[in-house]
Amino acid sequence: MQHTTIREALSRWGEETRRDLPWRRTRDPWAVLVSELMLQQTQVARVLPRYRSFLERFPTPTMCAAASVGDVVAMWDGLGYNRRAVHLHRAATVMVLEHGGEVPDTLGALLALPGVGPYTGRAVLAFALEEDHGVLDTNAARFLARAVAGRSLAPREAQELADRLVPAGDAWAWNQSVLDLGATICVKRRPRCAECPIAEECAWNLAGRPEPDPAAGSAGTSGPQSRFEGSDRQGRGRLVQALRTGPIPVARVADAAGWPEDPDRARRVADGLVGDGLAEYVDGALVLPA
Ligand code: SF4
Repeated sequence: MQHTTIREALSRWGEETRRDLPWRRTRDPWAVLVSELMLQQTQVARVLPRYRSFLERFPTPTMCAAASVGDVVAMWDGLGYNRRAVHLHRAATVMVLEHGGEVPDTLGALLALPGVGPYTGRAVLAFALEEDHGVLDTNAARFLARAVAGRSLAPREAQELADRLVPAGDAWAWNQSVLDLGATICVKRRPRCAECPIAEECAWNLAGRPEPDPAAGSAGTSGPQSRFEGSDRQGRGRLVQALRTGPIPVARVADAAGWPEDPDRARRVADGLVGDGLAEYVDGALVLPA
């Protein structure tokens, strides 16, 4: 295996091309956790202003836990997938109750927090504490399957390989480089192999890139994106947006969700918001939680 050469070439490329982003300047675990949760399903350009304002309002887990869920969801405005904000608020509460108001510093304790999965837990350890963990999101998983293994990987193999590749003591920079390569060069459709810094070491490229693409179906790589237009997610988003301006009488929920002809669907989606802790029914109206 050409791991040493891949490491050197990718690390060099990362140094030369890395974007300066606010969450890359900090090693504060809370700020890293907030940025990782925001970036999970939202583009960098939309995250940037929200990240700053969120941390100004909630600079510590303790301040976040002391606020209402509604306030935390309100500061999430524009990012979508508001369930992340509810999880963050719950996680902050656990940190106050069980970790002295600090983000825990072990993988086990991180994974026990609401909304924190293997990617986010390892991201906090690698990007805040600079511990040697391989951070495995869909971009990193693609890189591993194509460039390193040259075949699809099972979940355990992918994580073990990701961990093994981390150059000792360099987890922060290494993981940033891997994630950047997957996000910008080794993209899902039509990877830009001609511009790739590790093209001469990439197992799949060296084999002539035979079909099927090793990343297809490999552990951690994403399936096809579901359509947003007309989806339940779109209706959820409309309801949360409307809730920010005030209570929605139950009789008006279908209109607010954008489905005046389908009140049953609107009510089901509203019930989902309540179940996720994003809203409550009070006096015949849907409201943000207190
Ligand atoms: S050579 Fe192509 S497939 Fe291989 S890592 Fe680079 S972009 Fe991805």
